[in-house]
Formats: sequence, C-alpha cells, structure tokens
Amino acid sequence: MDFGGSVKQTEQFDFAIFGIPFAEKSCYMKGAAKGPQAIRAASTSEAINAWTESDVNLEEETSIVDLGDIAVNGSFWDVFARVEDQVRRISGKNAVPVALGGDHSLTYPIVKALAETYDRLDILHFDAHPDLYEELYGDRYSHACPFARILEEGYAANLVQVGIRAATGQQRVLAEKHGVRMIEMKDIGKPLDLAFSNPLYISFDLDALDPAFAPGVSHHEAGGLSSRQAIDILHSVRGRIIGLDVVEVNPERDPAGITASAAVKIIMEVLGKIVASRR
Ligand code: MN
Ligand code: MN
Repeated sequence: MDFGGSVKQTEQFDFAIFGIPFAEKSCYMKGAAKGPQAIRAASTSEAINAWTESDVNLEEETSIVDLGDIAVNGSFWDVFARVEDQVRRISGKNAVPVALGGDHSLTYPIVKALAETYDRLDILHFDAHPDLYEELYGDRYSHACPFARILEEGYAANLVQVGIRAATGQQRVLAEKHGVRMIEMKDIGKPLDLAFSNPLYISFDLDALDPAFAPGVSHHEAGGLSSRQAIDILHSVRGRIIGLDVVEVNPERDPAGITASAAVKIIMEVLGKIVASRR
C-alpha cells in the first residue's frame, strides 16, 4: 500500500490497513480473494499523489501503516477469529482499521470486534445488495448474510444502506423489522441527509457502483452509483467515522484495474475526511 507515499512503517499510527485475501463465503466467483493484492497494486503508482479532495495531504497530516494480510488457512471460523484479533489490536492503539477484502462476509467479524470498543455503532453500507439473507444455500455466514448477523447479534444501533437495487421481498421484511434505512437506487435522486450520532463504520461493497465504473466485481448489477455519486455521498456524511472496509473487488474481472483504482480513491477520500474532521 502506498497512496502517493502516505503509507509508512511506524509504531504510532492513526490508520492501519490490512488485507483479508478470503472469498470462501462468496456464493458465485472466488476472485475477491485477490482483492487486497489488486488494491495495493493500484495504490502504488506514480499516478497517485497523497492529496485528497478535502485538501488533506495524507503523507504529511497523518500516519498510515499497512499491516499486511491476515492468514486465511484453516476454517472460516479461524479466519474470522484472526480478523477480530487484528481489529482489536488496531482499536487498542486508538487507530482506525481499514480492511481490504475479500468478500463481504468479513464485515461481520470486523464489526463484532469493534462492538467491544463502541457501545453503540452506526453503519453506513454501500452495496447493490442488502446482504440481509437469513441464510444463502444453507450458509448463515455467506457474503449475502453479514448484516443479518450483525443486526441479530445487536452490534449496530443503526444501519443505513445506499445503492441498493437487488432487494428481495424477504430482505425488505427483515430490513423493516430491524429499522434499516434502505436507500434504493430508484430513490437516489432525492437529497440524502446522512447524519449519524453514534461512532460510524463504513462498509463499501464495490458493486454499489455501476458495473460501468466498477466492472471488477463478481455480481454485475446495472443501474448503480457513479464513482462521483459515491464520493459525494461519502463527503456529505456527518458523523465520526471509526472504521472502513472495502470489499468484493474481483481482479479477475478488472483487466484495466478500474475497480481497484476506485477502491483506492474511496479509501483515500474517507481517510482524508477523517483527518479533516480532526483538525
Ligand atoms: Mn455485499
Ligand atoms: Mn453486493
């Protein structure tokens, strides 16, 4: 990871990036396991400098480390436990975790660990899909289920979903039951007022973007957000952001690296926003 020279080796840091090359919970393609590698490659380029749109120089105004990848051998429970441990270590240093997926199942162990630090947590979830299945093909920990588990186990006070365009009837019922605010693409023309009172976790599934802007995902669902819309929504969010994941980049469908570059941009803009808010 590089971000125009922003990522350094240091004991004291504000942000800790780590990769999770794991896609065993993907129901369709498994290419997201190569996501961390692709996002790192896209961030390490002469084409990128350290400035964000919010006028923050990430190289000079903050400290970012890359802790490498989580080991993914063993059962998925082993992998989830390692993810939780990594998040706990980062929280223990009062730093913000930035996870590179991997498939979306990984948001569950990340949020589970964060819920130990934060009593009440709000979540902003970008996705084409609500990921609220009770189970998919018999698996309750599928990448289609993380937010059902998070809500069930009480790890989130509020869940807001943006970019949705593939909700099922059953998922709508679950969303209603848990008070999820589902902002669907068909309604996105209206002004979004996204203010969060509790510490805010952001989970960004790249398939929230239209396949024209992010072809490198396993599930192509037309009619999504433009990169610009997504960045504008992120900039407009009011709240204290305490963690981020960027998941479901599938490099096997991303020959020009467009999707990985979008992931890098999203990470940099969220980090810039956090740094700007602390000035
Ligand atoms: Mn998802
Ligand atoms: Mn999705």
